[in-house]
Amino acid sequence: MCEHCEVQAELDELGLCPRCRSMETIRELYERRRDWSPEWEAHLRRLAQRAKARLPLFEQPRKERDG
Ligand SMILES: [Zn+2]
Repeated sequence: MCEHCEVQAELDELGLCPRCRSMETIRELYERRRDWSPEWEAHLRRLAQRAKARLPLFEQPRKERDG
């Protein structure tokens, strides 16, 4: 089960599914997990919950688009 989005999938050495692994931002998060700290673990847990709720991983500024 994927560490991040909790789907059943073939996982890489970070425990991520192909979809999460293909997202550079997610992959970086879990690569940094090797330098484990309680704060980082809590941060990851919050992000994983956002992923499960299908929210964007990070707040993104809205771009104005014409037309
Ligand atoms: Zn995943």
